[in-house]
Amino acid sequence: MQNFVGVGVSRGRVIGPVRHMPAALAEPPPGEKLASSKAPETAAAALKEAAAAVKAQLLARAGRVEGTGREVLEATALMATDPMLIKAAVKLINAGTSAERAIWEAGESGAAMLMGLGGYMAERAHDVQDVKSRIVAQLRGVPAPEIPDADAPFILVAEDLAPADTATLDPNKVVALVTAGGGPQSHTAIIARALGLPAVVAADGVGALDDGALVFVDGATGVVSTEPDDAERAAVAVWQEQASLLSVFDGDGRLADGTVMPLLANVGGAADAQEAAAANAQGVGLLRTEFCFLGNDTEPSHADQVAAYKGVFDAFPGQKVVVRTLDAGADKPLPFLTDTSEANPALGVRGYRTDTSTPGVLARQLAAIADAAAQSDAAVWVMAPMISTAAEASDFAALCTEAGLRIPGVMVEVPSAALTSRHLFDHVEFASLGTNDLTQYAMAADRQLGALAALNDPWQPAVLALIQATVAGAASQARHSSAQALEDTAPKPVGVCGESAADPVLAVVLAGLGVTSLSMTPRALPAVSAVLRTVTLPQARALALRAVDAPSAAEARELVRAGLPALAELGL
Ligand code: PEP
Ligand code: MG
Repeated sequence: MQNFVGVGVSRGRVIGPVRHMPAALAEPPPGEKLASSKAPETAAAALKEAAAAVKAQLLARAGRVEGTGREVLEATALMATDPMLIKAAVKLINAGTSAERAIWEAGESGAAMLMGLGGYMAERAHDVQDVKSRIVAQLRGVPAPEIPDADAPFILVAEDLAPADTATLDPNKVVALVTAGGGPQSHTAIIARALGLPAVVAADGVGALDDGALVFVDGATGVVSTEPDDAERAAVAVWQEQASLLSVFDGDGRLADGTVMPLLANVGGAADAQEAAAANAQGVGLLRTEFCFLGNDTEPSHADQVAAYKGVFDAFPGQKVVVRTLDAGADKPLPFLTDTSEANPALGVRGYRTDTSTPGVLARQLAAIADAAAQSDAAVWVMAPMISTAAEASDFAALCTEAGLRIPGVMVEVPSAALTSRHLFDHVEFASLGTNDLTQYAMAADRQLGALAALNDPWQPAVLALIQATVAGAASQARHSSAQALEDTAPKPVGVCGESAADPVLAVVLAGLGVTSLSMTPRALPAVSAVLRTVTLPQARALALRAVDAPSAAEARELVRAGLPALAELGL
């Protein structure tokens, strides 16, 4: 029996046979000559035969998969017998180079040429590299460097996986991923989480597992072991039961004591909204309107805008849809609104600020939202991104009123807005915490830089304190307005629509901090709901206070996890 412990990066427990990813092909030595016994014509014919065989294999494989995987395989198949590629290789063979070296060099220079062309052509460079290796493998009579094809489901074991390896990964065949290398942010980990496959990375030594050996994999604890025992079989059975619990959201977000916590979806257009409605999201907490127009060079017409917004509203009749006005700038440039030559785009004229540099676009967008809302049954709320001051909140609310939109709000994603939220609430009806940007601005860490991932963590106690301050500002504003109106006023709602809401453990902290709704990618709804149902509001409050008080993000996370025994049962 062999035991390995790596890092669990995608939860789930499974038992299955190992299939190894073939090792990368060794490069034919530079300068390798054609054997003196071989005529160039024979070598060229063998090369053409190998290329045709590779094409046929790829087309056969394409016929067995769907969607993007099929497109990737069909494109690669065509490249295998590309006349330019074959002609370049035959020329080298005629000059005395071995067939393997010839196709290798022809492939390398073809790929370099495509890379030089940039854009779409550069993306095809990978296909040429791929067919080059496949043809060499065919000439050598060894397996192609690709995910093995098998009739029965298996556990894929590899040194590490590249994006191209995973394009054709069929989750019905590959039931878990185990790699000897890689880390929690590696491509393997990201793909596994996206596909919902159990995965363990950095499991040193797994390359020595026998092909076909039956192994137990636990994607939460990182355990990989051969000869599974009864306890491991039972653990798999428990997981299968839990997995069904974690695969569906019943459309009713609440805590164990019945406290209501609506769980909404983040969407970028009508197709996303339909998917979210099918996943039982209780509405839309963030419609990123810039996603509807990312390809536009010019401001979208009124009719185009109305159609785009109405498409989303129609997926949620009678439910809340929070529309965010265009958040152009930084990682989402829109040529008609943003200046890409800014030295610090994340700190530049982005989001609501573009209303000053390009006046009119926002007012026209609000008019289109109002028209779409009037033609649908959704309860439409509107919010502006990147609000920094109470004056901006007031100006935005005035624009909403002019457009006939009655529920204006702001995104709180700049620390100044979090710290002064009390004054912002004097002008708007709600706030939504954009914790992605709030984290990057609180920690002064570019959210796109992998090297700063540890700082860019919404578990950072400083970020949690800003969320706490935002909620406290809503309560304080309610107290002030109650005193003036001589009657009780409830605090205005504060939701979260950043990625943090999709973390089921952090969702408990957010609930405990007093957040009133959570909006996330629909895939996260079942797990967030399942964990919220295991805690009461007082328990969530106690855990939230411990997290805000923790000295580091890691300790905050650990303290809260330790207070949630249900996580182990749920395999989270
Ligand atoms: C955020 O900043 O958390 C947010 C939801 O907005 P975006 O990710 O679109 O910037
Ligand atoms: Mg943001």
